Amino acid sequence: MEKPFYKRVLLKLSGEALMGDQEFGISSDVINSYAKQIKEIVDLGVEVSIVIGGGNIFRGISGATQGVDRVTGDHMGMLATVINSLALQNAIEKLGVPTRVQTAIEMPKIAEPFIKRKAQRHLEKGRVVIFGAGTGNPYFTTDTAAALRAIEMNTEAVLKATKVDGIYDKDPVKYADAVKYNVVTYTEVLNKDLKVMDATAISLCRENKLPIVVFNSLEEGNIKKVIMGEKIGTVVVTD
Ligand code: UDP
Repeated sequence: MEKPFYKRVLLKLSGEALMGDQEFGISSDVINSYAKQIKEIVDLGVEVSIVIGGGNIFRGISGATQGVDRVTGDHMGMLATVINSLALQNAIEKLGVPTRVQTAIEMPKIAEPFIKRKAQRHLEKGRVVIFGAGTGNPYFTTDTAAALRAIEMNTEAVLKATKVDGIYDKDPVKYADAVKYNVVTYTEVLNKDLKVMDATAISLCRENKLPIVVFNSLEEGNIKKVIMGEKIGTVVVTD
């Protein structure tokens, strides 16, 4: 059997990418592609935990939320991540992979509350654990939730799935001469304000020496390539 480079990872999936070609909501093509790619790495024996964002739902309702205060808006954002977590759980389980959703805001009728030891047990038993509701606190992002849970789960890396194929010195959509980094340090990311994750998430990763792999997840098969140690995307490492 092929031997994975990473044995335990946290996958950060973008909520925004989940809408595919739609203006908001969940694209069944994208969610099924994520599920298929996740099954591929579970089949390799990799222990997989996931944090998924909420941008696809949250930004879709942002017209209606204009004038809503920050904390309420953030609560709505966290609930959006729970909707995506449940959709992803369903798509993965349809492929026969056991999963659990744990939420940072308790809602025991639909998911387990986040309990570190329990989550670790699930991973050891080969279950995919999806962490919903971010950190449970306003003023944070799902990237920070991803860094936090990755550290709590003792994962070897955070795999940050995006719509671009890595980190560039400037926006590759706007500038044709943008250059991609293969490897970059946390400090460079912070000092140059490179668009990877927010500063809180980067600082947490730096403090705990947790590598971040940024890659394009919309190209099917890429999650497995990262797991196998193929050098696609950009790796953020210690100084
Ligand atoms: N959020 C929050 N606290 C958290 C995580 C998320 O308040 O710990 C809210 C915040 O409003 C955020 C929204 O949930 O904008 C959805 O997450 P995010 O925008 O990070 O998702 P993505 O960009 O990956 O779709």
